Amino acid sequence: MCGVFGVYGHKEAAALTQLGLYSLQHRGQESAGIVAIDENGRGRVSRAMGLVSEGFADAEMAALLGPIAIGHTRYSTAGSSTIENAQPILARVRRGHIALAHNGNLTNAVELRRELEEEGAIFSSTMDSEVIVHRIARAQSESPEGRVAEALAGVEGAYCLLVVLDETIVVARDPHGWRPLVMGRLADSVVFASETCALDIVGATIEREIQPGEIVAIDRQGMRSIRALPSAPINRCVFEHVYFARPDSKVFGGSVDRSRRALGRQLARECPAPGAQVVFAVPDSSNSAALGFAEESGLPYELALIRNHYVGRTFIQPTQSGRDAKVKVKYNPVREIIEGKRVVMVDDSIVRGTTTRGLVSLVRGAGAREVHMRVSSAPIISSCYYGIDTPRREELIAAQMTHDELTRHLGVDSLGYLSIGGMLSAMPDGPEGYCHACFSGRYPTAIPSEPELLRAGSAAGVSVGL
Ligand code: AMP
Repeated sequence: MCGVFGVYGHKEAAALTQLGLYSLQHRGQESAGIVAIDENGRGRVSRAMGLVSEGFADAEMAALLGPIAIGHTRYSTAGSSTIENAQPILARVRRGHIALAHNGNLTNAVELRRELEEEGAIFSSTMDSEVIVHRIARAQSESPEGRVAEALAGVEGAYCLLVVLDETIVVARDPHGWRPLVMGRLADSVVFASETCALDIVGATIEREIQPGEIVAIDRQGMRSIRALPSAPINRCVFEHVYFARPDSKVFGGSVDRSRRALGRQLARECPAPGAQVVFAVPDSSNSAALGFAEESGLPYELALIRNHYVGRTFIQPTQSGRDAKVKVKYNPVREIIEGKRVVMVDDSIVRGTTTRGLVSLVRGAGAREVHMRVSSAPIISSCYYGIDTPRREELIAAQMTHDELTRHLGVDSLGYLSIGGMLSAMPDGPEGYCHACFSGRYPTAIPSEPELLRAGSAAGVSVGL
């Protein structure tokens, strides 16, 4: 998972990019970076581990001059969380420079990297994205967009790319359209972002989505859009709407808040909880779905779990061992709401099940009489190879247990998941054109031949800048 943001044609391009990255922080918290290109075509980069708020010293920001900038927030698996793997990448090449920020996950990166290494290419990171930089550097086409198209021919998997080639910004979205990418306007400048909430923060208006398979270039000659990539069925990621994107964004043309509410309403229809007295969310990602559940079921919606906002995903493990301790650092129940009640707890997804198990024990500890778990997505049974950091199938709890086993394991009185059909019917433009491989196991393309090499930490491997 990652967030990308770019600006063309604004004298404060880097400052705007920093603002945009704040709004894309939820898409990646491990590292953040900005590349700016000045009036003389000189590129400068600033990258740091950690959050956007921690990453850019004033002096560094002041040095990021020029009218073009691209930025990136990164989330990957633990092993590859190093500064070498922070983006954007800035490389000096024969004809000038290439800067690149990537959201997605290439499925044939291992093969492409081997090919390049056999030809003598030297890599400075283990990121799959670096493969694209090498391929752009070798491309022979005249135009910048032609070079990007040439580089992407043969690259498989998910990508939303922001590339700067000298003084041209080129953006590309893979033909399947797994990840979102939008274009906006801010006076005479053009802005690109993974999600519309990042356009809002800089005051840009939404112009349109970059279409699957589209490449757009902007430079002094103007804006050009080309369709040079092979066409493919559309497979937008349903999990963006279920969990990943912010509810104040429009993703794939539709409001995430509206789709999450629809998921919650559909969940209440498919898996009601008769006799329950109160509904609450596991904040924050399931707030909207729990509201939908409450609306449909007519139950009161309460804020029964309080989340500590100062604890990130990568918080230091408490010395106290055990799952409950880990969950307790992040959540605390409000006893006054829960005590003596039959409660419905809504979450958007169960991955390994550790969070849910810990939460159920907290909620029971706060005196709940019955706990009915409702999940606003289908069971996650397969890994994602297109940009979401789902663990291996062996670690996916719903792939390892029957429904009854899982109900017992989580310690709930009942467990209800949304059906795949119900989940897809809640998408803004209906059920067609979505990838649901993590829920159905039906991968729309060939999956990596050596998935373990794509995971982080392997010296020989390529890690993915999700
Ligand atoms: P667990 O079942 O303990 O692995 O955690 C499930 C929780 O993690 C749910 O509350 C989700 O909101 C959240 N979640 C779902 N997918 C991811 C992901 N790829 N990375 C981090 N958190 C996730």
